[in-house]
Amino acid sequence: MSYSQNDIKFFVGMFPQKSFNDNTCHLIPSFGNMGIIETDEGLVVFDIALKQYGPRNFQAVRDITQKPIKYLIYSHGHFDHCYGFEPFISEIKENGWEMPQIIAHENCLNRFAKYQMLDEYHKWLNAQQFASVAGSQDEVVSPHDVLEPTIILDGKTPYRFELGGLEFELNHDKGETDDSLWLWVSEKELVCSGDLMISSYPNVGNPYKVQRYPKHWALAMEHILQKDAKYIIPGHGPLIEGKEKVRDVLEITAEAMHFVHDEVVQRLNEGKWFEQIFHEMLEIYPEKFKAHDYLKPLYGDYRFAIHAVYRLYHGWYDSGNPSDLFPAKSEEIAIEFLKLNNAHKYYNHAKMLLDNNKYQLALYILDILIKGHRLIDEELYLDTLILKNKILKEKAIQEPSFIVRNILNNGAKQIKSRIKSIKNERSKRNIHTQGMGNGY
Ligand SMILES: [Zn+2]
Repeated sequence: MSYSQNDIKFFVGMFPQKSFNDNTCHLIPSFGNMGIIETDEGLVVFDIALKQYGPRNFQAVRDITQKPIKYLIYSHGHFDHCYGFEPFISEIKENGWEMPQIIAHENCLNRFAKYQMLDEYHKWLNAQQFASVAGSQDEVVSPHDVLEPTIILDGKTPYRFELGGLEFELNHDKGETDDSLWLWVSEKELVCSGDLMISSYPNVGNPYKVQRYPKHWALAMEHILQKDAKYIIPGHGPLIEGKEKVRDVLEITAEAMHFVHDEVVQRLNEGKWFEQIFHEMLEIYPEKFKAHDYLKPLYGDYRFAIHAVYRLYHGWYDSGNPSDLFPAKSEEIAIEFLKLNNAHKYYNHAKMLLDNNKYQLALYILDILIKGHRLIDEELYLDTLILKNKILKEKAIQEPSFIVRNILNNGAKQIKSRIKSIKNERSKRNIHTQGMGNGY
């Protein structure tokens, strides 16, 4: 499978629904996916997606089967996996059916409590990370509206239950989160993986989010491999189908996670600081990972993963340079640079860097002008903002990563509104001056 650079459609569930195993197993494409396993006694549902997707998913499930839900499993407590329950619960209440068992790992409860504590913060954060996803950001997150788990697992040993003559086995592994569960249904040769598998490079070092677990992620892949599954319903993206494909995807992901973990660890042991580790890691990244369909940096990204490993074992002082221990304000530093040299030289230098495709260096030089803008004339300030906006947008076009693109485009948008307000101020000033002129 190949994805176009700007295509995150698969990630938000815009691909065909899939039924398999004689139409007893179903992948409901969504943000994130729902996995449905039909038995003679009812349904086992793995994940129930984002709140807004609830009505759509309810319709999709009821177009397939009228059987009641007996078990609902949370792969982990993220918003896109366990908040889309409302229409399903309404149906249960309307029909006077028994409530299903809701299964989660015990750390999921801590997560729900954390989301309630940090509600406003998460809204702000997710609005940035998911800026390009259509629809209202305001309603994405509703942490007080939770369907509480009824069976809470500590994950130390597999948890097994039976329904309609099928055995369901839940296992706990850390990866994207510390509360993840994956499901094994041996009669169906099926794994429901949650976000341990997202058809992208694993989301292991998300720049906005808390610590993730690269080494455990590799181990999770190896645990799943032992099942010799024929199908994986991933947390995001289409069904992974066929023993060979399943094996390949799990093996390469395990290998990629071991690689980033072990190489950063080796460099920590060699007494290196983050910057050196980061750039060395970029140089040694193997082609076979770059080229693999399931390691494309569409959501997670190797560059993020380097941070994840470093952060897992290292404190916040990451440069080894005492100047950085208690940094001065960057605006004040910029002003000192501008006192040393003509502002236009910085601008021209940034343009030259851009002409030589040195985008990142050009940004640093432009930031001196932007941060120290009270020392430069307005015309140059505007030109600088326009140039930075252009660079960010060009970088975004070249980026395969959805998260990186959003960060760059958010920055470009902020600059654009700054340009607009400066121009507005200026035209108001001009009107004012003209008015004065006419008056005399
Ligand atoms: Zn997810």
